[in-house]
Amino acid sequence: MKVIVNPTTCIASGNCGLTAPRVFANREENDGFVSLLDEHPPRSEWDAVREAVALCPSATLSIEEEDADV
Ligand code: SF4
Repeated sequence: MKVIVNPTTCIASGNCGLTAPRVFANREENDGFVSLLDEHPPRSEWDAVREAVALCPSATLSIEEEDADV
């Protein structure tokens, strides 16, 4: 899995850092906008990442499934 962030559309809602805190952060020094912590998260994080993608209100987050994922 590869995680993709489009920083131009983030509205700093903070959902992603709450839903998948090992992959996304919403730091105060970045005004709550998304920071990507792990572009290739381990399988144990995939459900949380998919939930964060689904919950992002501005469609900022997406994923690419890679050959090794299947
Ligand atoms: S959930 Fe989406 S809009 Fe909210 S902080 Fe994360 S990337 Fe930005």
